[in-house]
Amino acid sequence: MAPIFPGSVDAAGRPATLGVLGGGQLGRMFVHAAQRLGYFTAVLEPDPQSPAGLVSHHHIQTNYDDPTGLAQLAQLCQAITTEFENVPAQALQTLAQTRPVAPGAAVVGIAQDRIEEKAHFAACAEVSGVTCAPYAVLETPAQLQAVLDERADLLPGILKTARMGYDGKGQVRVKTAAELAAAWAELGGVACVLEKMLPLAAECSVLVARGWHGQVVSFAPQRNVHEAGILAVTHAYEGAMPAALADRAREAAVAIAQHLGYVGVLCVEFFVVDDGSEHGGLVVNEMAPRPHNSGHYTIDACDASQFDLQVHAMAGLPLPQPRQHSPAIMLNLLGDVWFDASGQPQEPAWYAVLSLPGAHLHLYGKLEARAGRKMGHLTITGPDVASVKTVARRAAELLDLPGLDAI
Ligand code: ATP
Ligand code: MG
Repeated sequence: MAPIFPGSVDAAGRPATLGVLGGGQLGRMFVHAAQRLGYFTAVLEPDPQSPAGLVSHHHIQTNYDDPTGLAQLAQLCQAITTEFENVPAQALQTLAQTRPVAPGAAVVGIAQDRIEEKAHFAACAEVSGVTCAPYAVLETPAQLQAVLDERADLLPGILKTARMGYDGKGQVRVKTAAELAAAWAELGGVACVLEKMLPLAAECSVLVARGWHGQVVSFAPQRNVHEAGILAVTHAYEGAMPAALADRAREAAVAIAQHLGYVGVLCVEFFVVDDGSEHGGLVVNEMAPRPHNSGHYTIDACDASQFDLQVHAMAGLPLPQPRQHSPAIMLNLLGDVWFDASGQPQEPAWYAVLSLPGAHLHLYGKLEARAGRKMGHLTITGPDVASVKTVARRAAELLDLPGLDAI
């Protein structure tokens, strides 16, 4: 693909414009990165108050599969990406008929479906060197019966819907065969996977960016701590992960991106399983075909962020290997922070938080705080790991954040 140069204007006087499907916080941070380089931006998102729509040059307020909206997006933009893996793959296909779309519909389709995703991980296990947790596919009552009869090894396990799950939604933990049957009925008998519950020593993720011509760069793996199925804390500094595991995870993520012929930023999540070995075994969990919550620290701690790389990749620009210049801890800010212990609304302690050295506050412009809703994040950077941890602990105390003992 020929590069789309930032700041360029075509013969008809139209400025170089990049488009994104979806208007959430990932779209907003993508728009910020694109605009900093001088691109105009267009967001397709039905919500008139969306985080990305509010800051973009253009906001097309239609559904993701609306033909008129998609035609308008293609007409305005020289290249298009997505910030949301559950956009209809058909929408990406439609756009791809006239414009470069990264990542492509086929890979987004794989990441949208846990069954296809796991099949892909299995297909490239030889080159990636990692497999996923033992699992079984549940699409029919006969398959349920077969699992009940023959796969007692998968219990206790987690039943996960094949499609539309995020932040732990669409997941039920099951200990017995009876619980499994009841949980599948409760999920409406939709296509699911039953995954064996693994003893986790840690979790980590890797961000990879791959260009149209196969150039690949990656960030060092970051260690993630979840609370109630939602990312709470990301540790990004040397030593956050044992070096040997970090190297393996990074190589595996790159192999997975290469195998997919991926274009854009891909996040691969891993489990570190307590298997009795010194550092534990590495198991691939899932992938997100877009920048990821666990990579938000790259905005403040690296010389190129995951969003900068997404812009470079989709626009056909070179992909510089990013360099992390500061150790960092990222704390997610859910809507819970806007309520006190008795459930009364409160203004979070911003004044005290913003007085902390190396505290970078990002709020997404969401007007209504709700429990569990991702409202923003706080990245702490500093000269060394010890001072970053001290400040992060203080911030977590001030905001009464979960996962404090994990810092
Ligand atoms: P995301 O917000 O990352 O999209 P998700 O809803 O797609 O999350 P998963 O990543 O599958 O869900 O699971 C969420 C969390 O639940 C994991 O990060 C991990 O903490 C826990 N978990 C999931 N599967 C397993 C497993 N097989 N064994 C142990 N813990 C698990
Ligand atoms: Mg996950």
